[in-house]
Amino acid sequence: MDLIVARNREDLVKARRAGTVALVPTMGALHEGHRSLIRQARVRADQVVVSVFVNPLQFSPNEDFSRYPRTFDADLDVCREEGVAAVFHPAPEDMYAPDRQVSVSSGEMGRIVEGAARPGHFDGVLTVVLKLFHLVRPDLAVFGQKDAQQLALIRRMVADLDLPIEILGAPTVREPDGLALSSRNRFLSADDRRVALALSRALRAGAAQLTAAEIRETARAVLDEAGPDLDLDYLALVDPATFAEVGENHVGMAVLAVAARVGATRLIDNVTLTLNTP
Ligand code: AMP
Repeated sequence: MDLIVARNREDLVKARRAGTVALVPTMGALHEGHRSLIRQARVRADQVVVSVFVNPLQFSPNEDFSRYPRTFDADLDVCREEGVAAVFHPAPEDMYAPDRQVSVSSGEMGRIVEGAARPGHFDGVLTVVLKLFHLVRPDLAVFGQKDAQQLALIRRMVADLDLPIEILGAPTVREPDGLALSSRNRFLSADDRRVALALSRALRAGAAQLTAAEIRETARAVLDEAGPDLDLDYLALVDPATFAEVGENHVGMAVLAVAARVGATRLIDNVTLTLNTP
């Protein structure tokens, strides 16, 4: 079957076939991480719809919206290779009316950790994801653990707003040296890239420790070793469902999350670990 490119709601309705639909929302510049989400979606649904939309709502005025990589033709090739049924690629002006009023609030959980560093970001993410859910009407949707707080907030939105959509999380795909794949990695110079490796190195070193204090200290020490070329935004050890900082007595899963600027590029990464279980 030929890949369908849908630009609006009418195209999506025409593209719809019988059977289950999985949605993989992306901002394009597709890489192996996106491919792994698509593959997981294909296993679980009859058709996969990939959305490619650089969502202006989730960027602050001082962020990289205009610089964000746009490689739509290459993205279509990736989708063809991966057996995607349809790509939804709306124009920003078709997604957002100039006089729009109503949006989704990500609540207190959207204002901590990554949300504290990027005010309004998660409101923008949830608003576009809710719109994509209504436009594509998927049975399930796949999101990467790479954006762990985003995944947690989407699960929260689905629960709080009773959305009839199953949410699947997919593991982070990394380069052999540990760097998490990201559409923004193309902006890293060779020197930046070496510095950027401190993020995944810090997470691995932290994850090898036993207590919350040791995890935080060890990861922080690795980030400090990277020197002034790594501008740390935050290092946080949090509950995977709420993103609240965990205490020393926390039992079970936790997420160790980091964000830093290397040169002009802001990178995030995280690992899931288990604390204080026998
Ligand atoms: P983006 O295009 O960066 O907005 O990401 C679209 C989806 O791909 C999100 O659910 C991300 O969490 C996921 N994603 C991005 N990078 C990776 C990666 N390295 N491994 C797995 N999933 C990823």
